[in-house]
Amino acid sequence: RARQHGQEARPIFRTPMTPETDSALLLRAIAFAADRHRKQRRKDADKTPYINHPIDVASRLANIGGVEDIDVLVAAALHDTIEDTGTTPAELEATFGKRVRGFVEEVTDDKNVEKQERKRRQAEHAPHLSPSAKLIKLSDQTSNVTDVALSPPSNWSPERKREYVEWAERVAAGCRRV
Ligand code: NDP
Ligand code: ZN
Repeated sequence: RARQHGQEARPIFRTPMTPETDSALLLRAIAFAADRHRKQRRKDADKTPYINHPIDVASRLANIGGVEDIDVLVAAALHDTIEDTGTTPAELEATFGKRVRGFVEEVTDDKNVEKQERKRRQAEHAPHLSPSAKLIKLSDQTSNVTDVALSPPSNWSPERKREYVEWAERVAAGCRRV
């Protein structure tokens, strides 16, 4: 996929030469994601900055899920960068390592597939994800369902919201026991 204009990684986002603390790594991931999503907005009436969502997904894992694996929190912050910003898997591996790249790839949809079919596949694939990818998927779904309830896409009917929650429930069911 062609890179979007102006995506050359700035030095501040690159892996430092010296050992990095977990908090420094997580902040670097959030800064990277914020830069990549900078022109995107959520679909709610306020057009909330897109980055609020990946931060919410990572925060839920740490603060509700009790997840301590730093690569899982980093991957949560980056979870929509391949799908929505044209960031490449190779770039994630070079900047955040093989494990993070793998988790983000696991939760990335194939954009060449039509939307309805893509959603069907997400539900079908959920049980086959790694335990860490299931955690990210669950947090992504709970974040989005919360948004559908509290700050929904501005043009959605009650029926559409209900359909969304029913689909999210199918995906979540595939992520049980993590
Ligand atoms: P989606 O159902 O994909 O939109 C929801 C997604 O948008 C979320 O999963 C989330 O994804 C992101 N998002 C951004 N802002 C918000 C927000 N404020 N609240 C919740 N989610 C948000 O909608 P699409 O327009 O892409 O349509 C996909 C499918 O929806 C269609 O193929 C069809 O099946 C169905 N549809 C149903 C209609 C109906 O009236 N029932 C009408 C039209 C379509 P992320 O985490 O990736 O950001
Ligand atoms: Zn998401």
